[in-house]
Amino acid sequence: AKTLGKGQYQIFDSEMHNAAIQVLQLENDLRRAVNQQEFIIHYQPIIALTTGKIVGFEALVRWNHPRQGLISPTLFIPIAEETGLINPIGNWVLREACYQLQQWHHQKLTDYLLTMSVNLSVRQFAQPDLIEQIDKILAETQLNPQSLKLEITESVIMKNSQPVKVILQQLQERQIQLCIDDFGTGYSSLSYLHNFPIDNIKIDRSFISSLNGNSDNLGLISAIMNIAQALNMSVTAEGIETAQQLEQLRVLKCDFGQGYLFSKPLDGKNATNLIESATQW
Ligand code: C2E
Ligand code: CA
Ligand code: CA
Ligand code: CA
Repeated sequence: AKTLGKGQYQIFDSEMHNAAIQVLQLENDLRRAVNQQEFIIHYQPIIALTTGKIVGFEALVRWNHPRQGLISPTLFIPIAEETGLINPIGNWVLREACYQLQQWHHQKLTDYLLTMSVNLSVRQFAQPDLIEQIDKILAETQLNPQSLKLEITESVIMKNSQPVKVILQQLQERQIQLCIDDFGTGYSSLSYLHNFPIDNIKIDRSFISSLNGNSDNLGLISAIMNIAQALNMSVTAEGIETAQQLEQLRVLKCDFGQGYLFSKPLDGKNATNLIESATQW
């Protein structure tokens, strides 16, 4: 048993070693990827639950690695955040997503303006020229700022509230919409959110996936909805996968929904086809 224990440690050590090498390798590759623009964006529709129509999309980045193929953002975004590479990646996503939205607006595929939601990481708020970059992109694309939505997590607000608050106010002045992503997984309270110019709350998938008629979860979501309403914020449910979840969220009068039940994130071409199909849920 003793040797087995020792052996297990050795395996553990070498696994740790391999994992460290893999991260280093990924980090190197990521630097190259930024220079060579190896990223692509997939777009997932957001649906207004009252009408069942697509009102916008969320831009979700993927790394098109030359050898490994498409790499999930859950694997490389943390490394990008640690290394600061999230700044050039994030700016690229913002510009690219705004150009895609501008194209959709120009094509007049809908008789209302679609919105584009883009994720901003904590690190991007430390960029002294964040607002300047956003202004530049809005000027280049001539987008109506109201059709741009920026998603931030509770941790952004909790991290360094004063400078963040100033940036959020500058975004609000421009009529850019602000969403709290993954709501319920962080530590902020809804009353604390009141101090920030937030337009929309996205309830984290973990709450939606456990929505199966269980009254605890129904009550929790309903409580979030009530306070959001009092604070004049709309609510989006993420990760809707079943018709039952959708039905319950409609009963609760949740404003927007997103999830595999409607569609997985799609490349630009397939997202365009989906808009053209005018599918309604
Ligand atoms: P997120 O912002 O919470 O995005 C939602 C994630 O849930 C996406 O994963 C989406 O594909 C997935 N999803 C959507 N509907 C369903 C569903 O019904 N069931 C399940 N199981 N999953 C669903 P994805 O694309 O892998 O992105 C993961 C995370 O990576 C994102 O979570 C976000 O935190 C981060 N991310 C993605 N793109 C960017 C970006 O451009 N910038 C930054 N800073 N982060 C990004
Ligand atoms: Ca998001
Ligand atoms: Ca989310
Ligand atoms: Ca998430």
